[in-house]
Amino acid sequence: MTKFSDLALDPRVLQAISEAGYETPTPIQAQAIPHALEGKDVLGIAQTGTGKTASFTLPMITLLGKGRARARMPRSLVLAPTRELAAQVAENFDVYAKHTKLTKALLIGGVSFGEQDKLIDRGVDVLIATPGRLLDHFERGKLLLTGVQIMVVDEADRMLDMGFIPDIERIFQLTPFTRQTLFFSATMAPEIERITNTFLHAPARVEVARQATTGENISQRLVTFTPTRKDMAAKQKREVLRAIIAAEGEACTNAILFCNRKTEVDILAKSLKAHGLNAAPIHGDLEQSQRMRTLDGFRDGSIRFLVASDVAARGLDIPAVSHVFNFDVPSHAEDYVHRIGRTGRAGRKGTAYTIATPADEKYLAAIEALVKAPLPRVEMPEGVVLGAAGDEDEPRASSRSGSSRSPRSRGGRDSGRDDRRSAEPRGEAQPRAAAASDEAPAPAPAPRTEPRAEPRRDAPRTDQRSEPRGEGRGSQHRDRRDEPAVVGMGDHVPDFILREFRIPARPGAASETEPGEA
Ligand code: AMP
Repeated sequence: MTKFSDLALDPRVLQAISEAGYETPTPIQAQAIPHALEGKDVLGIAQTGTGKTASFTLPMITLLGKGRARARMPRSLVLAPTRELAAQVAENFDVYAKHTKLTKALLIGGVSFGEQDKLIDRGVDVLIATPGRLLDHFERGKLLLTGVQIMVVDEADRMLDMGFIPDIERIFQLTPFTRQTLFFSATMAPEIERITNTFLHAPARVEVARQATTGENISQRLVTFTPTRKDMAAKQKREVLRAIIAAEGEACTNAILFCNRKTEVDILAKSLKAHGLNAAPIHGDLEQSQRMRTLDGFRDGSIRFLVASDVAARGLDIPAVSHVFNFDVPSHAEDYVHRIGRTGRAGRKGTAYTIATPADEKYLAAIEALVKAPLPRVEMPEGVVLGAAGDEDEPRASSRSGSSRSPRSRGGRDSGRDDRRSAEPRGEAQPRAAAASDEAPAPAPAPRTEPRAEPRRDAPRTDQRSEPRGEGRGSQHRDRRDEPAVVGMGDHVPDFILREFRIPARPGAASETEPGEA
């Protein structure tokens, strides 16, 4: 993988990048920067969120490092369609050029001409502008564009939508023919193609897959939880995942689940299968033929859950994927964009879940910086009982907690596991149990006469204990269920204790004696 240090950037730029916390160049950066540094024109087909701003800003700063600005003759020009985008480029520039002495001016509406004129008069290395405002300055005779060595057109397709193409053509004509042009657009509409054919010279064309960053058609959801034990984090994540899948129900027609490591891909696929879910793994260590079979199966719907590593899933084009699950938070922020872009394709709706623990905080922050929005947090589905199951990967926490808890384990101290389970509010387990029942293997047989959680939810505990437990008891015993439990007898209440003693009434005597008096 390319490193920033491989890219022949100015050491001062490298320092600023490392201070910004970037570890590796994004694909558009890795591809565009070398061409730009060679002085070639670049045609970049990339969207916001791919790191394209740095892909032109970093080489610009490096190339402008030598030489000085002259009054009213900016040495480079960046055109952006809106004030916000122009301001964003200016912010990026400030970050990446902080160890250099390069100067910049921002020409956008809403800022007084006077301030901007002053800066330009002094001479700037980088002029960042919206096209209309730039031409206003030019027409007032305050600006000369003949010193522009590098010209950037950012978001050209939006310029087209906003009717700026004639302005762009005019600005191109006002700059020297010898300038270097870096031209970025998310799409190549015919009009854009025409402009690039006219004004770019043998451009290097670099393209990154169209990304659905925070596309409205993808509903992004973040579920966070704190594992009850560090060494149980992965296992508990699987419990949370199954709960989400169960809660999504039929809306989740199929899904790609991403793990950061191949070993985890295998473990997760096995675990899902063990829980009755139709899953298969795909990663680089598997035979090509097997990978193809798995992919075909996922495409034709015979496999519902594809558990994948980033590399294996890159470039996968499966149009109808309802869900993406980030079982692991990706450690490279741009992988998040690649991953969630597997759903919501071709205008369809998609859902992307990310499951995170406190250990993922750093990676989440990087993702949120990249997509420029916080990931919407959602509640964990109801009824997840973390750490309730044993160390083995059994579905007990979800499928049995409501039905197989024995009164003995509830009170017993012999098993920490059971203690934890019994500590859970009982009512919570029930919806989960019901939701998961079709996906989990059959639970071990519950104690014969244990009442189900549902009816017990509102009843006081003592009710269950005093309830007659064996089958075939006389109905006269049933009405004892509202009485307090017999203390000291554990779960088993001997029959004789529940028996009523009646003495046949003697004429004139008190009608009934108390049991035991007989
Ligand atoms: P852009 O596509 O230029 O709007 O960039 C999107 C976000 O990605 C911005 O918040 C940048 O700060 C961030 N970014 C750019 N390059 C990198 C990189 N190599 N590593 C991590 N984040 C980056």
